[in-house]
Amino acid sequence: MKSLLLCLFLFVSCSTAWQSPVREPATTSEFMHLVLDIDWTIVTEIKDPRQIVKPHPRVIEVLGIQYFINEGLEELIIEALKYPDVKISFFSGGKRARNSELLSKIKLKDGRSLKDIATNILSLEELVKNELAPENSPFATRFKKDLTLISKDLWQITMLDDTPNFVLDTFEKQSDSVFFIGTAFEYFDSFEKTEGHSGEYVPKSYEAWLLNRKKLFILKEAFVESYRESKRGEGTLLEGMKKRERLLDLKSHTWNAYSRKLYANAMLSLEKYKKVNCGEMALELIRL
Ligand SMILES: [Mg+2]
Repeated sequence: MKSLLLCLFLFVSCSTAWQSPVREPATTSEFMHLVLDIDWTIVTEIKDPRQIVKPHPRVIEVLGIQYFINEGLEELIIEALKYPDVKISFFSGGKRARNSELLSKIKLKDGRSLKDIATNILSLEELVKNELAPENSPFATRFKKDLTLISKDLWQITMLDDTPNFVLDTFEKQSDSVFFIGTAFEYFDSFEKTEGHSGEYVPKSYEAWLLNRKKLFILKEAFVESYRESKRGEGTLLEGMKKRERLLDLKSHTWNAYSRKLYANAMLSLEKYKKVNCGEMALELIRL
């Protein structure tokens, strides 16, 4: 039934979904900052090499560790790069050298790497130690990301992170600038490969596995909608994204009508679909 509804949606929206992107000029000197966490947000560490058939075009190796480049990442970055008043930064708890090498290995179609397009790359070395946290507490409790290193105006920042409360909330509530994208699952090349595995980081259904896999496509569409809303004077980019954080409810690991709509829109805007008709496109989506 869900597939049928998705198919119907695709046919209805087919004629409008790949309109040319809006290229609004910057109307103020103020920039919006899209800040991306790295681990489990834009890449997924492959802890079990049996989970993937190699060589794989989306797998990179950095300092002996293999990472899967999460699907939809390049599309999200390319979209954000279209807007001259949006700056892209990365803020990770990983070491600076690792982050630098990892970002330099993720390439866009024009040959630039994520390191090339980044305004800021902030790392372990920039984390703030929470002196009040017990030594045996989780890493993200003992160390915090300080978003004021990106901008003193927190309303200008939207950070995407799979770890809740990884930012400083001591003086200002920096978590209000974070879109919590839900806890990520470990890497499984397909849902079938979760068989025999259990625990918090193992998806319990195909739908949960798929949502985890396609999350960045959905976030790209959420960003586009929020950006356009902000340009119409309907709140800030951050307000739009926080509204969509609630509507999408990605932390629940369940699809809803809104996440399905944004995902379908993202698929329709993909280059590879532009030369095929809607019928073929719908069939491919149903197979997912
Ligand atoms: Mg993370």
